Amino acid sequence: MTAGDLGRFDVVVVGAGTGGLCVAIEAAAAGASVLVVDKLTDVGGMLHIANGEFSGAGTRRQAARGIDDTPERHFDDVMRLSHGKADRDLVWQTVRAQGDTVDWLESEGFDFDPATPGLVHGHEVYSVPRTYWGVEFGRSVLRVLRRRLDDAVRSGSVRLLLGTRIRSAVLDDGRVTGVAGTGSDGREVVAYGDAVVLATGGYDANPALRNEFLPPGCEDAIVACLDHATGDGLAMAVEIGADVSRDGFFIPVMGLIPDPGRSGFAVDYREAFLEFAPAYRTPYEIWVNRDGGRFVAEDGTSPEHRERALLRQPGLALHVVWDRAIAETAEPLIRNGAGDWTRERMLSECASDRWIVAADTLRELAERLGVDAAALTETVERYNAAVRAGHDPEHGRTTLPMPIETPPFYGITSIAASLLSRDGLRVNGDLAVLDREGAPIPGLFAVGEVLGNNVFAGDNYVGGMSVTPAMTLGRLLGARLAADRPAAGQEVP
Ligand SMILES: Cc1cc2nc3c(=O)[nH]c(=O)nc-3n(C[C@H](O)[C@H](O)[C@H](O)COP(=O)(O)OP(=O)(O)OC[C@H]3O[C@@H](n4cnc5c(N)ncnc54)[C@H](O)[C@@H]3O)c2cc1C
Repeated sequence: MTAGDLGRFDVVVVGAGTGGLCVAIEAAAAGASVLVVDKLTDVGGMLHIANGEFSGAGTRRQAARGIDDTPERHFDDVMRLSHGKADRDLVWQTVRAQGDTVDWLESEGFDFDPATPGLVHGHEVYSVPRTYWGVEFGRSVLRVLRRRLDDAVRSGSVRLLLGTRIRSAVLDDGRVTGVAGTGSDGREVVAYGDAVVLATGGYDANPALRNEFLPPGCEDAIVACLDHATGDGLAMAVEIGADVSRDGFFIPVMGLIPDPGRSGFAVDYREAFLEFAPAYRTPYEIWVNRDGGRFVAEDGTSPEHRERALLRQPGLALHVVWDRAIAETAEPLIRNGAGDWTRERMLSECASDRWIVAADTLRELAERLGVDAAALTETVERYNAAVRAGHDPEHGRTTLPMPIETPPFYGITSIAASLLSRDGLRVNGDLAVLDREGAPIPGLFAVGEVLGNNVFAGDNYVGGMSVTPAMTLGRLLGARLAADRPAAGQEVP
């Protein structure tokens, strides 16, 4: 072994996020020697910021609450919500085992929110309650995975190497036999494995790469994920001939606030987002586009409908407009997972000039927001008339609590956001990465967001169908790679 040579393992996992940790935990539990490499100094990947909502059917938790559900029903829901565009084979492979993942988390002491399983209104809803989350969201999932990883590291079955960025695959006669990269001290490292698993996550924090996949007109979407999602695994695999999906599906996440200090990126979701789901907060405000017009009923119950409406607006931007009387009456528009946005905090935010613009007249507000002033004034007049009439002939909004007429007036801009990658590496049912002829690249596997979320959600969002396939297929892959590993002394086929 030369300096920088980390040795040979049964399984080398690149990426210690949701999917990679699950591969490592199960492979190690089944007796494999595993190396886990991550470029960051901590494990967990997107679980640090994610809601961590996961879904699974036929679970013990559902049964205990009298909820009748099956993987078949989950599958039908996924195909319905994805408009038939998700990958049937991979969806079935994951949903039939997602209930086991939920039960496994439970047996590992997962701190379920008592309200789960529930129906979640941030995306189109499932037909039965089958979505779960922890009291600390993604960090609750991470707590379980971290504990299992630590056990495996202590027992010697997993070696964990942090601060090491993998840059390329090592090839031997067309087979991937290892990976090479740069360690935290700047030294080159190489590690060999009978199987190499790319679990490097998505590419959304790399807007140039992301924009290569987004359909035309979506380049203005702001980034709402953590910085590690730069598409490294995708680029690495493409370099050696891997095929990549290019489905052109994009549906934004709404409610993210552009970060004034970082162009093109959103304010951290853990700190603040705008609550637009009427199931969680009664809307008192209106939303206008840059032309100063409303474009959708702000109280519509279909997330998909409003997300698609936003996609048609200039700059993918909407501006929420309200007034002092609403600020003193409504629940805070800004939320976060910690639940610490009180009305008082919201009122002081209104006066801070950080994200929210305040003005004594609608004309001045429009100018500060970059919105057509005459049109905004007319829009507010028409909306106020609708409130008085109790009827919104333009958009059919039925929640019409108060007119917008008491200065100061407030506005905040929100831009459509991308937070998980829609396209990714093509794989077969064994999660082997396929080349551009459709043949598996020997020795190379992939799991998690590096596959692209279109595989599990088509052209929509489907509850839990990013975190749960990463965990579930990761666990199955880890167990299978351990079971399939060549016996000592046997040649790798
Ligand atoms: C705000 C937000 C909320 C979300 N909420 C949900 C939700 O409620 N439900 C849901 O299903 N999904 C949700 N998602 C999406 C979900 O969290 C991710 O799709 C999923 O966690 C991705 O898991 P992963 O293992 O593929 O990648 P990640 O968890 O991103 O892990 C990838 C790891 O690979 C490492 N890495 C990358 N490149 C290299 C390299 N070159 N060398 C070494 N290491 C590397 C990274 O450092 C990282 O640790 C959310 C996402 C965001 C941003």
